[in-house]
Amino acid sequence: FLKGKSVIITGSTSGIGLAYAKAFATEGASVVINGFGDEGEIEKERAALEETSGAKALYDAADMTKPDRIEAMVRRCHAELGGPDIVIANAGIQHVARIEDFPPEKFEAIMKINMTSAWYLFRAAIPHMKEKGWGRILSTASAHSLVASPNKTAYIMAKHGIAGLTKTLALETATDGITVNCISPGYVWTPLVENQIPDTMKSRGLTREQVMNDVLLAAQPTKQFVMPEEVAALAVFLCRDEAKAITGANYSMDGGWTAQ
Ligand code: NAD
Repeated sequence: FLKGKSVIITGSTSGIGLAYAKAFATEGASVVINGFGDEGEIEKERAALEETSGAKALYDAADMTKPDRIEAMVRRCHAELGGPDIVIANAGIQHVARIEDFPPEKFEAIMKINMTSAWYLFRAAIPHMKEKGWGRILSTASAHSLVASPNKTAYIMAKHGIAGLTKTLALETATDGITVNCISPGYVWTPLVENQIPDTMKSRGLTREQVMNDVLLAAQPTKQFVMPEEVAALAVFLCRDEAKAITGANYSMDGGWTAQ
């Protein structure tokens, strides 16, 4: 149902972002993927997206810490694919440490990549959406946009910021045919989660098993990781016409975490 539409997904060379790209390509959208990684692997994924969608797929290496690169990516999408009709702010990194031990450069990077980049992306995309009278703006927030856990000050500040940006922009665009929502997953099984296991082992003095069961899934009553494809399926639904009344919402997909 997305034939003729274009979608930009930040941080889509891996994890949830790549699952979004595949799900949107399955609906026929042309896709701009973004993020870091092995060039050959990225090219393989890009070509596979074209195969799936029957539409164009582009790779743009814009670094989310650089506003001018974000704006250039939106201009490139407009020139080569039209739109963007849908944008998804998804790029994100994590760092786990007590505030006293938290390196300021990590703090700044997380604020830029996980939060500020979304503001620049949406700011650049909205004029194109207004022109068409249709648009869908999404972010991958987190259960940490709603509740906190220790040792993640930067991440939790950034995700609460995404929740606030979502609500504010939903009001600003309410009569423009544009919806603005975010999805707040609990622990999703991706490289981001896998990579924070060693840091958590170190900061809390635990084994890998203990981190998985007693820390990561401790908060998730279902005791199961969310799968990236499940997050992507919700994002696709939010782009349907049936979802046009859903705006300013923050959808939890967290195995009951924030129900506690
Ligand atoms: P991931 O590490 O698999 O993917 C992160 C993506 O962001 C990669 O494509 C990476 O290249 C890209 N990226 C990193 N720095 C970038 C930069 N400076 N510029 C451009 N791209 C950059 O992680 P993931 O788990 O798929 O996470 C995706 C989003 O989902 C993040 O915003 C994360 O906070 C959020 N999230 C993840 C979970 C989880 O449990 N995995 C839970 C809730 C929310």
